[in-house]
Amino acid sequence: MPSASSLASTLLRREILDLHAYHVPDSAGYIKLDAMENPYSVPPALRGEIADAVAAAAINRYPDPAAASLKEKIRGVLGLPDGMEVLLGNGSDELIQLLAMALNKPGTTLLSVEPSFVMYRMIATFTGMRYVGVPLVDNSGVTNSGAADFSLDLPATLAAIRREQPALIFLAYPNNPTGNLFPADAVAQIIEAAQGLVVVDEAYYAFAGDSFIPRLAHYPNLLVMRTFSKLGMAGLRLGFLAGSAAWLEQLEKLRLPYNVGVLPQLVAGKLLEHHEVLLQQAEQIKLDRAKLYRQLSEIAAVRVYPSEANFLLFRVAHATEVFDGLKQRGVLIKNLNGGHPMLHDCLRVTVGTPEENERFMLALQEIAS
Ligand code: PMP
Repeated sequence: MPSASSLASTLLRREILDLHAYHVPDSAGYIKLDAMENPYSVPPALRGEIADAVAAAAINRYPDPAAASLKEKIRGVLGLPDGMEVLLGNGSDELIQLLAMALNKPGTTLLSVEPSFVMYRMIATFTGMRYVGVPLVDNSGVTNSGAADFSLDLPATLAAIRREQPALIFLAYPNNPTGNLFPADAVAQIIEAAQGLVVVDEAYYAFAGDSFIPRLAHYPNLLVMRTFSKLGMAGLRLGFLAGSAAWLEQLEKLRLPYNVGVLPQLVAGKLLEHHEVLLQQAEQIKLDRAKLYRQLSEIAAVRVYPSEANFLLFRVAHATEVFDGLKQRGVLIKNLNGGHPMLHDCLRVTVGTPEENERFMLALQEIAS
């Protein structure tokens, strides 16, 4: 009998063997500023209420497959235009996968920009879709160019859409890992030019100044995807798609019946009853982001990029050494160096609590000097 590893390499699809698993480092004991989580846990005033609800929850039963009560609460806080629906996912990652499974007719293409959220490419690869990434405009080193860094290359993106005819387009709005919000009129031009489905991924909506939700009814080929992960619920795993019933009814067929468990439905429902508390946390994070941005800009050796998300991208010489130095000082951020040519010497730090940000800044200043 051949060994398990030789059997696996014979039986598995080539593109799976070639993939690198999404790497999540061990963060135990670190100040954790690597994964765009909200640093604030359940607001103390809600803990008792949530604990009681969890204790009484029917975890011996399957969850409500339609998650009717949670969906109603989501609709309540969303301001969804008439006729629009929501579809829930076990995190928005699951929804990217569901969309790729739904649209990958043989030979079809998934298009995004680069650098952006790595799961678009990864999921295209393992669902067997062709992947096309249109480079963002890199102005690093170009002084007085007038254009923002990591900006959308609209002519190149429109040309790629005409040439590649993608069935599915993902645009992160704001973008990860660059933090910028592409101009709304450029995104609108992309939606109008696309023959395929465009998903505007608003994972960081709570920290940004714009959304495509109010525009859903204008575009028959638009869906908006969001997650509650950055709003204090990363551990619950809850994302959703918003859009017209015509799309969501079809996609619903691919959703596994019990993809959102009893506890996520319950706890997210309770938290959404206090949506204003979550939004206040997001406002605090935005203030702390501005402070962190100022502090980073004051370090001569650091180039920090503007952000409308809950993280900041910055460039330093010898990023990997800086990353290691921060880690030695107990601070874990994300090293993007080597991930994409445009992210050479780039690091990404999540905005934490004021104390965490201070610990990060102190460690960085120590390394910089
Ligand atoms: N979209 C973007 C742009 C992201 O950055 C992330 C998380 N890093 C996700 C989607 C996935 O979020 P989740 O699966 O936690 O909902």
